[in-house]
Amino acid sequence: MLVKTDNNLSGLKRRIDLSQPQQNTADGTVSPIIDKFHRSLLALRISVTDRCNHRCPYCMPKESFSKSYSFIPYEEYLSFEEIATLARAFVSLGVVKIRLTGGEPLLRPRISELIRMLKEIDGLEDLALTTNGSLLAKHAAELKSAGLNRLTVSLDSVDPNIFKTMSGGAGDLNDIFTGITEAEKAGFNQIKINAIAQKGLNPDDILNLVRQFKGTNHILRFIEYMDAGNCNGWRKENVLSSEEILKLINQTFPLKRLNPNYPGEVARRYQFIDGNGEIGLISSITQPFCQDCTRMRLSADGKLYNCLFAENGLDIKKALRQNSSKEDFISAIVNLWKDREDRYSQLRNELQALNKVPQKIEMFAIGG
Ligand code: SAM
Ligand code: SF4
Ligand code: SF4
Repeated sequence: MLVKTDNNLSGLKRRIDLSQPQQNTADGTVSPIIDKFHRSLLALRISVTDRCNHRCPYCMPKESFSKSYSFIPYEEYLSFEEIATLARAFVSLGVVKIRLTGGEPLLRPRISELIRMLKEIDGLEDLALTTNGSLLAKHAAELKSAGLNRLTVSLDSVDPNIFKTMSGGAGDLNDIFTGITEAEKAGFNQIKINAIAQKGLNPDDILNLVRQFKGTNHILRFIEYMDAGNCNGWRKENVLSSEEILKLINQTFPLKRLNPNYPGEVARRYQFIDGNGEIGLISSITQPFCQDCTRMRLSADGKLYNCLFAENGLDIKKALRQNSSKEDFISAIVNLWKDREDRYSQLRNELQALNKVPQKIEMFAIGG
């Protein structure tokens, strides 16, 4: 089956054909590239900066990432033109979704210009951005008018003190609320709110988060705390599982399971039975979804990664800056995906038991 690229989101549901090798044809039909485990390359996450104005302890603990830390030198960042060139290549290979992330993507100057450039790519169906929300009030209107389709705001607590702890003492909760309000005014009417629930930190605030967003059009999603990077001191005992979160919410706000929006959706969806909205649970630790993982990741300095927990990336910037032909860097991307065997979350327990956990790329360098 060849899959036609079109400009609406429903196309995402129709595109996934895991059985066929990638093909491009003269009439613009694309069949995605397949990796070693028959997963299609459908999505790209682009980190536009490794810098951040928060210091969330699960991502960028302030003890390890002080001012003296060597972030990527600015001249090593991919330019917007370079990012757009790569994005066009990815879309030509069947990618339909792009998400901008970081670090904090709103720290990258003129980010809306990049959004405008990416929106011009024929065949890209969905352009989204994940932010900590601290600078959203200032940027919401320009993000919308540049053509951003969807927004995710990370917010772990609605208690000012817990929020302070979970942003490493760096964030102000009022800024996030103002940001969400400005985003609503700008026309982002269904924002995803991502919250990490970590034992010992914010479990008592889960119901307050639910109360805050229930009945709005926004979708609150709880993400299990992951062993991302090498510095967050992750211990399995501190993971609050999706099952525990579900049980807790269900006791006060009864829920029922919803079908996924499209095959391979990573969040499990639940609707409040009173009809006042839905929540999502992302269970990367207790129910890994590697078998459905269709994303490649591009770091701010132009390295491509097949997995959030990868050790090494492919330096595609080098090829770009050496003026390699388009065919050369496209075939580098194709080969990277075709050789892909990554499935860290499925192997986590085994690797930990054998003491073979690799040195991983840090989460803020690659985007969540
Ligand atoms: N700075 C932006 C933000 O926080 O939304 C974008 C980048 S951040 C790395 C992307 C997402 O990764 C956030 O939603 C964050 O909560 C999530 N994240 C970071 N470290 C994590 C961890 N150890 N476990 C689970 N999610 C994590
Ligand atoms: Fe920054 Fe996002 Fe990481 Fe928090 S999760 S430190 S906001 S990059
Ligand atoms: Fe994808 Fe790697 Fe996460 Fe598995 S562990 S879902 S392969 S990013």
